[in-house]
Amino acid sequence: MALRDPFKTELSREAHLVKTVCRQCGATNSKAATKCRKCHSKNLRPKRTKSRGR
Ligand SMILES: [Zn+2]
Repeated sequence: MALRDPFKTELSREAHLVKTVCRQCGATNSKAATKCRKCHSKNLRPKRTKSRGR
């Protein structure tokens, strides 16, 4: 990734962090979502990043 703008990198990182993933179908939903937009299950988990490696 050749992005050097700290503001943009911060933005994209936030955008990745602020999401939930459905445990049933794996669809990504918004942070505010309580139900999956695809299968309507409430089995959502927050999306985590492995920020330790880099
Ligand atoms: Zn789902």
